[in-house]
Amino acid sequence: VLGVPVGSTPVLVRGAGRLDAVNLDALAAFAAWLEPRRPLLASIAIRGTYLDEEDVGRLLQLSLPGIDEVIGLLAVTAIGSRGYDDVVVDTAPTGHTLRLLSAPALLERVAEFLDALHAHHRDVVSALRGRYVSDSADALIAELDRDGRSLAATLRDPSTTRLSWVTLPEPMALEETSDALMALTADGLHVHTLVVNRVTEPPNEPCEWCQARRLFEARALAPLHRRFAALDLVTLPELEREPRGIAALRDVARKLAPLEIAGLTSPPVPRRVVAQLDAAPLVRPSAMLPQTLRWILFGGKGGVGKSTCAAAFAIDLAGSAPSRRFLLMSTDPAHSLSDVFGAVIGDRPRSIDGAPPNLHVREIDVANVLDDFRRRYLESVDAVFERVTRELAGASTDRTAFRQLVDLAPPGVDEVIAIADVAEALTEPGARYSAVVSDTAPTGHALRLLQTPEVLRDWTQALMAILLKYREVVSSGPLGRLLVQLSRRLRGLSTLVADPRQAQFVVVTRPARLPREESTRLRENLRNLKLASTTTIVNALGAGTCTRCRKQIRAQADEMTQLRADLRSQSPYAIIGTPAVMPPPHGVRALSAWACTWRRLE
Ligand SMILES: [Zn+2]
Repeated sequence: VLGVPVGSTPVLVRGAGRLDAVNLDALAAFAAWLEPRRPLLASIAIRGTYLDEEDVGRLLQLSLPGIDEVIGLLAVTAIGSRGYDDVVVDTAPTGHTLRLLSAPALLERVAEFLDALHAHHRDVVSALRGRYVSDSADALIAELDRDGRSLAATLRDPSTTRLSWVTLPEPMALEETSDALMALTADGLHVHTLVVNRVTEPPNEPCEWCQARRLFEARALAPLHRRFAALDLVTLPELEREPRGIAALRDVARKLAPLEIAGLTSPPVPRRVVAQLDAAPLVRPSAMLPQTLRWILFGGKGGVGKSTCAAAFAIDLAGSAPSRRFLLMSTDPAHSLSDVFGAVIGDRPRSIDGAPPNLHVREIDVANVLDDFRRRYLESVDAVFERVTRELAGASTDRTAFRQLVDLAPPGVDEVIAIADVAEALTEPGARYSAVVSDTAPTGHALRLLQTPEVLRDWTQALMAILLKYREVVSSGPLGRLLVQLSRRLRGLSTLVADPRQAQFVVVTRPARLPREESTRLRENLRNLKLASTTTIVNALGAGTCTRCRKQIRAQADEMTQLRADLRSQSPYAIIGTPAVMPPPHGVRALSAWACTWRRLE
């Protein structure tokens, strides 16, 4: 965005006054944080449990899951104390940001966990020496607890922290905003400013497209003054090209204006306008990928329309093979599939009126899945330790530790466990569905999700190795079974993902610079994950006929040229283009009709 390279240490941004910029590397920050503390953490674990050095080494080698994000936040506060007057933080898309902001609580839980481990040591020393003097281990536990609390307090203090939320003038984005703000408020975090970005300004000559777009936006924005009355509401106009570089960004800053609340009334639904695409051959979505696929994931930058593409694809796929059964699912708490279908979709797979009957749709309630796993986990830990506590010294601390381990599970574990269930349903003999279409969370989060099965498997296996100390009870016990089952499902998931005939990731992007650049990074990451991705969908191509629209179409063409160049090194590849439609396709009928207008651009 700044148009200059930004690395992991702060650099002065030329031409922007006294502004420094940095890309925070949470993993590196965590490694730097962990290094000096590693021996102390190990000694706490060894003193407190029945574990030996090898076990503890194994646990510390796994990244303490989720902690990297908290340490990232600590790094932000550390940067703030380096003589800056203000620190502006650009966070990840919604779901991820919500997790990040609640991350300090994780630090407090880690402190509690270590404290429980250390309690045993304190008891032993007190009993032997008659008194206990706190040492460096106690100091580390106190440090973690203090950091967690002060970070949580800083985020909630309106005199030091301001939260601004950025959204689009579209019903789906505003629904998501509403949900997110409610979640934040419930957590004691208050958003101060709401920025509505990319609002269409009146065209300077008649343009059917711009007029339909303006009606659509006005309808979406109408309820704002009721819903977000307490916030500072500001807007930014849609630009012909995305701003890049300091001069362009200064221009944008000057265009920031208060949202005109007074004139907000709900206009009629705009007439349907479809942008024309260049003459390229039509392609049915169901024909763009091999028929052997069992798992098709749709993903991309937030706001590119991946839920809409995934839904149109799934409807077309199910219609093309009436004898097979399909599941379209999402783990997105923003309920994007409900919004796309205009129907309430819950955790139970259901068919949708008007859609092929062999298609089920499900929005997985991941919190529910994790609660269920946690309950089974705690029950089985208790069952195991009920039997060994009497025999082994130290086992009761181990029990506390094992009970707390589930609360330290990495963020995203809930989604992986939910998806592992789906993977088992796909790979088992007599599986319920022939194929699953996934609408994934925005880029960074989706990647993390795809990496998590490996991390989680290491974690489960380390736990199992340690549990071998309690071999007799574990081998037949429910905890062993639970961990073995989880490990098997995760292996099934990894195998499925690694097979290009069975799993493919469809990258969805828009014909604009930032989404296009992010799609290139996404494809690189997918290559590293060894997940096949041959198809890129460029969503919402085209615009209207006014001067501004024609400029936008030229900018889109430049981006398409660049995208082809980005992809050329990769073979095989396909580019599918979908026409922009105003209002965007909503409901089964509109999605089915739109699915017949996709074109194969390359
Ligand atoms: Zn126009």
